Amino acid sequence: MNRIYLDNAATTPIRSEVLNSMMPFFDNRFGNPSALYSYGQEAKKAIEEARDKVAAAIGASEDEIFFTSGGTESDNWALKGAAYALKDKGNHIITSSVEHHAILHTCQYLENQGFEITYLPVDEYGLVDPNELKRAIKDNTILVSIMYANNEIGTIEPIEELVKVAHEKGVLFHTDAVQAVGNVPVDVKKLNVDMLSMSAHKIYGPKGVGALYIRKGLRIDTLLQGGAQERNRRAGTENVAGVVGFGTAIELITQNIDEHIKKLTMLRDKLIDGILKIPYTRLNGHPIKRLPGNVNVSFEFVDGESLILSLDMEGICVSSGSACTAGSIDPSHVLLAIGLPEEIAHGSLRLTIGEENTEEEIDTVINKLPKIVDRLRQMSPLFERIKKEKKLV
Ligand SMILES: *Cc1c(COP(=O)(O)O)cnc(C)c1O
Repeated sequence: MNRIYLDNAATTPIRSEVLNSMMPFFDNRFGNPSALYSYGQEAKKAIEEARDKVAAAIGASEDEIFFTSGGTESDNWALKGAAYALKDKGNHIITSSVEHHAILHTCQYLENQGFEITYLPVDEYGLVDPNELKRAIKDNTILVSIMYANNEIGTIEPIEELVKVAHEKGVLFHTDAVQAVGNVPVDVKKLNVDMLSMSAHKIYGPKGVGALYIRKGLRIDTLLQGGAQERNRRAGTENVAGVVGFGTAIELITQNIDEHIKKLTMLRDKLIDGILKIPYTRLNGHPIKRLPGNVNVSFEFVDGESLILSLDMEGICVSSGSACTAGSIDPSHVLLAIGLPEEIAHGSLRLTIGEENTEEEIDTVINKLPKIVDRLRQMSPLFERIKKEKKLV
C-alpha cells in the first residue's frame, strides 16, 4: 500500500540532495574540524559554508549563527542562557500558553530555579495580543519568548509587533521559529528579534541538528562547557554531516519559497474545504494567518486516537496534535488554550502537508475521511442520542 504522509510538522523526509551532501562526512571526509591539518580544515570549511547558507536564509550574518543539536537545544539555550546572563537585572520572563514543550518545560525548570514566568493567554485563533504583552512587562522583565508559528494549529504570531513592544521597554525577544523557517519568509533584521531557534528536520534536513541565531553583540550564558567550538559558545565536536545537511536543506527550501508556499497553500485549502463538508467539524487556528501546510480540525463525537488508527490502516499518517504528546491521554494544551472543551479537543486531528504531497493524495484523504468518521460516530452512544434529538440523517 502506498503511504500518504501528512505529518510534516512532526518531521519531514530527508531530500536526496541533502543526503548526498552529507554522505562524504560519514565516510572519507571524517576529519575533526578543530584539527590543524588539511583533513580537519576541510571539515571546518564545510561547516562554515553551511553557516553562510543558514545565515543567508534568514538575513543574518554568519557570525550570528550557532549550530546546536536541534530546536530543543536552541530553545533551552536561548531561555536559560538569557535568564542566567541577566539574573542581576531581573527574574521575570514572559512567554505564551501555546508554546512547544521545549519552551514550556524550560520555563517550568526556570520557575523551579527562582525565575518568575508569565504565560500569556491567546485568543480563539491562538494569537497573542501585543497589548496584552505590553501590560505584562514589568521592571524586572528580562526576556520575552513567543513562537513564530504554532506547531499544532499553524497560527502565525504578529512577531514584528510583539518585538516592538518588548524593545520599547528594553526587553530581549526570542522566537521559536522552528515551524516558520522554510514555510514563511523569515528575516531577522526585519523582525528585529534578538534570538531565533531553528531545526533541520522540519525542513527536509537531518534530525539532531539546528541553530540558534544570536544577534551580534548579545552575550548569553553557555549551556555546555568544554572545547572552544562555535567560537567558544557551544562546546562539543561538531555534527559535521548534520550541519552540512542542514545547510543544503535550508538553501533548497528558501530558494523556492514562493513556489513552496503557493503549492502547500493550495493543497491545504483544498483539504480544509473537503474536511469541513463533514458535519460537526471545525477548523482550529487562524483561517488566514496560518502556516501554508497546516490543517487542524476537530470532529465532534469521535475520539482522535481511533481516527488516527483507522487512517493508519488506510496508509494515511496524521497526528492528533504534537508528536510529543502522542500516547498521552491529556488533550493538547494548545487546543485547550484556544478555548476548546476537552471532549472536542480529544476529537482533533493535525494533517500537515509537505513538499512531497500531491493533489491526488489530498483527494484520497478527502474521499476516505468521511466514511471513517461516520463509522466511528456510529459507535458513539452520544452521537446516537444527538441524532435522535435533532432528527439527523
Ligand atoms: C519540532 C519543534 C521543536 C523541537 O525541535 P527538535 O529539533 O525536534 O528538537 C521546537 N519547537 C517547535 C515549534 C517545533 O515544531
